[in-house]
Amino acid sequence: MQITKHSVASIEYTLTDDGGQVIDTSEGRGPLVYLHGAGNLIPGLESQLEGKAVGDEFQSRIEPADAYGERDDRMVQDVPRAQLPAEVDVTVGMQFQAQGPAGVQVVTVVGVEGDTVKMDGNHPLAGVTLNFDVKVVEVREATAEEVEHGHVHGAGGHQH
Ligand code: ZN
Repeated sequence: MQITKHSVASIEYTLTDDGGQVIDTSEGRGPLVYLHGAGNLIPGLESQLEGKAVGDEFQSRIEPADAYGERDDRMVQDVPRAQLPAEVDVTVGMQFQAQGPAGVQVVTVVGVEGDTVKMDGNHPLAGVTLNFDVKVVEVREATAEEVEHGHVHGAGGHQH
């Protein structure tokens, strides 16, 4: 069975940057189970998986435009310290969830200067070229309910 729209596929993967640094991997955690064709993966990886079958292994180099997008310097903003929780010791690298125009957005503290905190709303992987090493380990048809919800149920998916 091949991966196509509304397949549920399980994949083992390792993701590295161009320097060979591992960013993410399914190793030790079990395969990623996802509903194909529902925008659950970055576009560059989902299109590579189309038509693949159990046992297929491949490497894919995905440019930022087909992954988490290019960095946008306008998303780096100075925020008054007073807008952040007083009880939190704000340090560089810390992440907050903020309500943005496109829903919940993760912002990262990239600088603290006096009463001003520099926040970066870019995805941490924006501007990064991704190198995937992928193996397809299972493919099945999605249930009608999974298609309706747009995500996978059961092991590796939503438990509800
Ligand atoms: Zn659901």
